Amino acid sequence: MSAAGSNSGWEVVIGLEIHAQLATTSKIFSASSTAYGAEPNTQANLVDLGYPGVLPVLNKEVVRMAALFGLAVNATVARRSVFARKNYFYPDLPKGYQISQLELPIVEHGEMFITDADGNEKRIGITRAHLEEDAGKSIHEGLDTSSGIDLNRAGTPLLEIVSEPDLRSAKEAVAYLKKIHTIVRYLGISDGNMQEGSFRCDANVSVRPMGQEELGTRAELKNLNSFRFIEKAINLEVERQIDRIEDGGTVVQETRLYDSDKDETRSMRSKEEANDYRYFPDPDLLPVEISDEYIEAVRESMPELPVAKQSRFVDEYGLKIDDAEILTASRALADYYEAVVEATGATAQIAANWVIGDLAGALNREGKDIGESNISAADLAGLVSRIHDNTISGKIAKQVFEAMWDGEGPADEIIAAKGLKQITDSSAIEAVVDTVIADNPEQVAEYKAGKDKLIGFFVGKVMQETKGQANPGQVNQILKDKLSS
Ligand code: ADP
Ligand code: MG
Repeated sequence: MSAAGSNSGWEVVIGLEIHAQLATTSKIFSASSTAYGAEPNTQANLVDLGYPGVLPVLNKEVVRMAALFGLAVNATVARRSVFARKNYFYPDLPKGYQISQLELPIVEHGEMFITDADGNEKRIGITRAHLEEDAGKSIHEGLDTSSGIDLNRAGTPLLEIVSEPDLRSAKEAVAYLKKIHTIVRYLGISDGNMQEGSFRCDANVSVRPMGQEELGTRAELKNLNSFRFIEKAINLEVERQIDRIEDGGTVVQETRLYDSDKDETRSMRSKEEANDYRYFPDPDLLPVEISDEYIEAVRESMPELPVAKQSRFVDEYGLKIDDAEILTASRALADYYEAVVEATGATAQIAANWVIGDLAGALNREGKDIGESNISAADLAGLVSRIHDNTISGKIAKQVFEAMWDGEGPADEIIAAKGLKQITDSSAIEAVVDTVIADNPEQVAEYKAGKDKLIGFFVGKVMQETKGQANPGQVNQILKDKLSS
């Protein structure tokens, strides 16, 4: 057993193959719908099923999406790429082959930057990204002694993104995967939905003695579809390999499956080589040729990417870099934030605090996405404005926020209905301060004798009396004045 999961003396090497389902409405080579969740076998036509005599027609939208991805990761977008048949038998593949790309993929030589364990920026090479079709799905659940095949997914467009073996820990692998996940969603080329299988990954994992140049033998962990499982599965696999080698054994090249229920990886099949598939150029599809003008047009359409957006948020709104990073985690969140700021004017930091704090907390609590928020950007802006103009204190605002979340209406209505307006009238605050001082002679004496910390006690009393509605700054000032006289 390697000491409590420590990998001392061993270097971990990981390369990821990510399958991102492209967000087209129709399939890569046919007009069938790609919508998720339809009745089995209602969205596969003769092309998807590979009937003899039918011809695939390339969906040009997938070319645009792949090119956009390539440009976003500083890759070369091939002016000429070729589809190839990858031949194998499987019940969910009635054609007997999958149309993919082998020798001439559409995207090559890209890169992505992650932050490593020491906080340094680290470059991860992207070997290639190629277009291919998905297969169908075998169904075992609820079928007793038989299995079913659902071919709705057959022919769904995928972009397979292959990294160099540059990742050195499960954490780095997850960081890289999250970056790719963010990018494809920013680009609008994949919804990245991991539960629905729109974004999944195979992790190739090996270990080698520290300092050794040659790569160790790898095992491939198939179809991981949650960030948490990926990290767990890789760590388990690393430990298994180290144990094995330290016990005098060897790692065999194979495909393994991660079982999240048992929290173990187990062998699925021995690894096949490319030549087992007898790849050959698909005679039914012409090579994909794209012009420089086309690529320039795609480049022109590139949306602002996370890194650029993050620095703009720092420059334009004066946000802390960490806040800017959180707010640009997804395009939807960044758009929401900007909508709040636009509607409130000069309160960018307060807006950031509310989006990152209470709003994110509430969304999290209910497992919702920003797109499903109970509070619209305009309504949150309404609340932020009332904090900014001192109508309510930050503390009361939390109460208003919860009421808004529960659907009680916009901030102004709630503030009026519940009488939550902040008390800024000095004479009203003074009256309460006088009562508090009169009611607590002992504390007053102690304070005057030098126990400064008691100011908190008095502030607390005044806030209690005013149900939290007195302006805290004024309360502090008035108390200090009165107690020192
Ligand atoms: P295959 O075609 O068999 O899937 P590739 O050579 O295309 O294999 O590599 C697939 C992935 O495996 C790539 O992400 C690559 O970086 C990674 N990889 C290759 N060799 C190793 C290794 N020894 N250890 C870890 N990852 C590796
Ligand atoms: Mg592979």
